Amino acid sequence: MPFINGRHYQPKSDRCIVKNSPIDNRVLPSIPICNRSDVDIAVAAARGSFNRGVWSQLPINERKSILFKFANLIEAHIADLAILDCLEMGKSIENLVYDDVPVAAQSIRWFGEAIDKVYNNCSPLNENSLGIITHEPLGVVSAIVPWNYPMIMTAWKIGPALAMGNSVILKPAEQSSLSAIKLAELALEAGIPAGVLNVVTGDSETGQALAQHMDVDGVFFTGSTQVGKLIMQYAGQSNLKRIALECSGKSPFVVLDSCKQLPFAAQTLARHLFFNQGQICSAASRLIIDESLAADFIPLLLEQAQIYQPSNPLDINSRVGASFCHKHLETVDKLVKNAQADGAKLICGGHKLETVKGGAYYAPTILTNVTNDMEIAQAEIFGPVLSVITVKSEAEAVEIANETPFGLAAGVWTDDFSTAHRVSRQLKAGSVHVNSWGEDDATAPFGGIKQSGVGKDKSVWALQQYANMKNTWFKF
Ligand code: NAD
Repeated sequence: MPFINGRHYQPKSDRCIVKNSPIDNRVLPSIPICNRSDVDIAVAAARGSFNRGVWSQLPINERKSILFKFANLIEAHIADLAILDCLEMGKSIENLVYDDVPVAAQSIRWFGEAIDKVYNNCSPLNENSLGIITHEPLGVVSAIVPWNYPMIMTAWKIGPALAMGNSVILKPAEQSSLSAIKLAELALEAGIPAGVLNVVTGDSETGQALAQHMDVDGVFFTGSTQVGKLIMQYAGQSNLKRIALECSGKSPFVVLDSCKQLPFAAQTLARHLFFNQGQICSAASRLIIDESLAADFIPLLLEQAQIYQPSNPLDINSRVGASFCHKHLETVDKLVKNAQADGAKLICGGHKLETVKGGAYYAPTILTNVTNDMEIAQAEIFGPVLSVITVKSEAEAVEIANETPFGLAAGVWTDDFSTAHRVSRQLKAGSVHVNSWGEDDATAPFGGIKQSGVGKDKSVWALQQYANMKNTWFKF
């Protein structure tokens, strides 16, 4: 059930998302699809709470302590939240219990902690006037999120949105709605007033209604580039609302001939490609390696691929669970077959697995002899598939790394300090990793450039996106 104005809400629409778990095809509860009139009701609830000032005008230290309580409640319900996401989108329960849910709680706490540390500004002083620059909440904002990291993506948006005093309408992905509803219940229990955090469940129709709504002041989106472009259009067609977009990626992992730590590089690459069945926006899905190292590196990767074989995600020892649906695996499989037809060589995987009867699983897959113009090297696969491209020089590696419409993450491996500095400056991506991948912290902004998006999640830079900057003059 959606959650609006502090209670579960029965939508006017009788359309539902019928659900089966990707773990084993077991039937799950259907999820109601909110239509435009349901979205109107959610927006009115959010607007009402914002205008009454029950949250937006609460003293900062009270907002902060309620956000702390919210984070504590998330931690107290780790098991409930983890099992909901595990059943709905197939991620391993181990990942959810030890990573996704605690990280989501920490993110809410970080933004709660930040709000009384971020100062407003004063313009250079004049004798007879004073200009102050303040950051004020946007008003009613919507967070539209994907299914691959449901709790973390949600926390990265509702954390700063709530911290800045906005009222929020969360639209979870159709494949991961249950944890979002539980989250809204916990927010209310923590003391976030009714109407301040609402959840509308649904599909693209629901998301579109939010993004085109004339009384929504901002849409903060994480998902595909294709839908991100639509969100931008909806903002232009409606009220020019604030938007931030965290979109797709096809990130290059560059290994140069000066790299002397091949086993560690292979371990890091496998971890950040095969984890979560490759359903990671910043997956290192293109290995660009100097041809002199390929023969030593590939066997190391093959060894690592074995570690990331999927297993039943409900087993606490499972590191990799199911993919989110069978239909998606058909697309992944077709891309792999097309790549072989284009001349790529399959050296492991390349097929579905029946890890659990009825479930959606794919073997970790590596393709060599890939050239950067192939579809497999350009499309975001969102599955456990690595393309290996060999190069003859640093210049060629950089050129190929940047030859993509995306710019989310990139990495360079070298034991030469000057090379590391030079190449990291040349790589066009929102995050660049040197001799590493996936380093992450609440204090650092996360987000792409080019067609990977606009705006940032996390850090104090994210906070500012959820606010209007206002300039006020006093004349003496
Ligand atoms: P998606 O774009 O299909 O859906 C994302 C959300 O948008 C869902 O809630 C969906 O219901 C909603 N939506 C769909 N059509 C819409 C429309 N026309 N108007 C408004 N809302 C609409 O993406 P997905 O399949 O859920 O997630 C996978 C994608 O997300 C991948 O491309 C991945 O790279 C990206 N992603 C990016 C980041 C990042 O930080 N850059 C993080 C995670 C995932």
